Amino acid sequence: LFSRLSPTPADEPFAVNGAYIQDTYPDKVNLGIGVYRTSDGSPWPLRVVEEAEKQLYQASDVSRHEYLTIQGDREFLRLASNLVFGFDQEKQAQAEENKSRVVSIQTVSGTGANRLGAELLTRNLRPGCVWVPDPTWANHHTIWELAGVERKSYPYYDSATKSFDFEGTFRTLSSANTNDVVILHACAHNPTGADPTKEQWKMLAELCKTKGLIPFFDLAYQGFASGNLEQDAWAIRYFFNYNPRLEFCVAQSFSKNFGLYGQRVGALHVVTSTISEEVSQNLLSNLCHLVRGEYSMAPRGGSEIVRTVLGNETLKEKWYEDLVTMSERIRQMRQALFDELIRLQTPGDWTHILKQIGMFTYVGLSEEQVSKIRSKHHIYMLKSGRISISGLNESNVKYVAKGIDDVVR
Ligand code: PMP
Repeated sequence: LFSRLSPTPADEPFAVNGAYIQDTYPDKVNLGIGVYRTSDGSPWPLRVVEEAEKQLYQASDVSRHEYLTIQGDREFLRLASNLVFGFDQEKQAQAEENKSRVVSIQTVSGTGANRLGAELLTRNLRPGCVWVPDPTWANHHTIWELAGVERKSYPYYDSATKSFDFEGTFRTLSSANTNDVVILHACAHNPTGADPTKEQWKMLAELCKTKGLIPFFDLAYQGFASGNLEQDAWAIRYFFNYNPRLEFCVAQSFSKNFGLYGQRVGALHVVTSTISEEVSQNLLSNLCHLVRGEYSMAPRGGSEIVRTVLGNETLKEKWYEDLVTMSERIRQMRQALFDELIRLQTPGDWTHILKQIGMFTYVGLSEEQVSKIRSKHHIYMLKSGRISISGLNESNVKYVAKGIDDVVR
């Protein structure tokens, strides 16, 4: 029966990580997988997460291992949606009205939120196609392939200017049809680190409205990108407040900004244009139906940590400090890599390393150069030339710059 199966392609970041682990070379460097590392190359449980864990374990509530509801932990969802939409910063009446436009459900992290949103839209709206940025997080392709929706690309990255290709994006999406879905990275685009400006976001919101497109925001780096939660959610809040109202989805992940990768903490928020209890209830029941048939409900361990932190002002302040620690170290490593390439007089313009934001940079190596830097210098990155800046530290940044210098000459 199963002998008829042919293999599926391996997931590249995990495959690169596996190859790195196997490599016995002492100076090997892992710039492949998108996880935060400290200046000595270790994983970092956020200090605030460790504090929340202590509080949770001390409490030893007898119901701590009970099932969540199918929707998930409602207090966690309230705090998570405040973080995205900023409801807690609005006047109460306005906040109440705005909140009633959002239906939220806990998911198996950001991937699960993307998957659930794809399933909801596919089953209910039958979109003609989904527009994904070229390039994008590779899993967007897998997720929408599994949803059975045709995928089309819009040209996101201009390799000549090493920045977001607004003209290409706008021109291509102008040919999209009503009810087509458009995947948008809310901040710190993975893999390029290049984001639209505020003016460009405004024009994209207008385009979505006039063409009747359904924006689908992927929010995997809020607070992690710039260290500023408002700034990283700016585009989503702009689309939310757009008049006339837009309807859209937000897939929220807490993997990076809480360092809770393996705990699988996330949420899907669906924004409606109407304020109707009936519409919201129907939407929620459809989402719950999909979740129940898939995995019953999201896990609770990680969401309890996030809820504990976001629900306590003192812990929240500590979380902001941890976010700054991570984003600042990444910024410093961008600068260090840039400085070293300049010092070595490596041929080419490297200013994009400083301009791009978040965990990743499209460093600008060809596939051949990526293969060479791996075989000759044991430096691991994705074949597109995407590097995870957090894999750099004071001890390896010179070595990496020298490797880049060697393969581009
Ligand atoms: N979207 C993007 C763009 C990402 O980079 C990631 C993390 N690599 C995710 C979603 C989701 O990750 P997770 O499922 O760990 O939350």
